[in-house]
Amino acid sequence: MLPSREQIERAAYERWERRGRFHGADRADWVAAEMDTVFDLNYQVVAEFWLAEPDKRVIGDARRPRCRFCEQSPPRAAFSFIRPAIPELVGNTSLFTRELCDECAKQFADSIDAEFARFWESLEALRAGTASFREIRAPTAIPIAAYKSLIRMALSLMPEQELSSFADTIEWVSNPDHAFDRSLFGNAGCLVYQAHVPFTAAWVCLSCRIEEDAPFPYMLFFLGAERLILQVHLPLCALDEDLDGREVRMPQRSFCTGTGPDLQTSTCLVLPLKSAVDPSRTRRFRLFL
Ligand SMILES: [Zn+2]
Repeated sequence: MLPSREQIERAAYERWERRGRFHGADRADWVAAEMDTVFDLNYQVVAEFWLAEPDKRVIGDARRPRCRFCEQSPPRAAFSFIRPAIPELVGNTSLFTRELCDECAKQFADSIDAEFARFWESLEALRAGTASFREIRAPTAIPIAAYKSLIRMALSLMPEQELSSFADTIEWVSNPDHAFDRSLFGNAGCLVYQAHVPFTAAWVCLSCRIEEDAPFPYMLFFLGAERLILQVHLPLCALDEDLDGREVRMPQRSFCTGTGPDLQTSTCLVLPLKSAVDPSRTRRFRLFL
């Protein structure tokens, strides 16, 4: 569903009020209001967690542990520890899961989560706010393994009843082979937002499409920490099959931070997926031949 002109106008007016009725950002207010209204009309939050709560929160049933990724239970799979549902390096000290077996945890730690850690490291200046997208050589793509790690985080916190629509996604994430069929992923990638003011703690959120046939991906995952927010959609979802052949839009958000005249929209960078074999390198190599 797309917002009416009146709905956008109302949202832009609210932003102007929040800005302390300070003039001079009408265009930015309108663009941000349009983005947020599209998102609010089409998505609802299905899971949301702050990652540095005083109390530990553990996903999964203590009496009957079952791994979300290989779908095994004891004795076929071992569950020696309660494990972080989101990597600790983003600032997670409170969200854990029982639904990750020892074997899958090891496989992820050595491959996709290690690649995510390198990707996260490459964003350090942007996270800290010591540089903007314009000032540094920001990454131009997200490695497929780092993207997979984001998808596995999303699956880790997904409400149980949603998991059945993501059987193919789970299989893909669990597959140690990172080759992929680009046609199945369309223009998948990662949106990186830089907020004007840092968050007080890291957070994660899953939002799902409200209307069945709206031309947006069914499930979106957000990870926010310091000044950055990463946004991905969950690929290979059964509920997106009806959208095949249609133009599907990835909604963007304004993620406004600051108060009064200092209220500002986040800047956003779109990173496409980079496959394990860098096609640009292959091309260069062929040129020299
Ligand atoms: Zn497992």
